[in-house]
Amino acid sequence: MRCHYCDREATFEPEMDGVVVGLCDDHFREQFESLSESDVMENLQRELGVDGVDGIDGVDGSDGADER
Ligand SMILES: [Zn+2]
Repeated sequence: MRCHYCDREATFEPEMDGVVVGLCDDHFREQFESLSESDVMENLQRELGVDGVDGIDGVDGSDGADER
């Protein structure tokens, strides 16, 4: 699967609004920032096993909180 925004190989394939979209690392981060307020990212975060992500509600700065 290719990135929805460019021609690079998709690193992530999150489901957004019921549609699976391919995202490269760069564009994933971009979307991540804009979606960080929504439930989508919470689900995705669990799905991918992402940890230490800044700016997500519910993450109460135990580690990596001072990076930003
Ligand atoms: Zn891209």
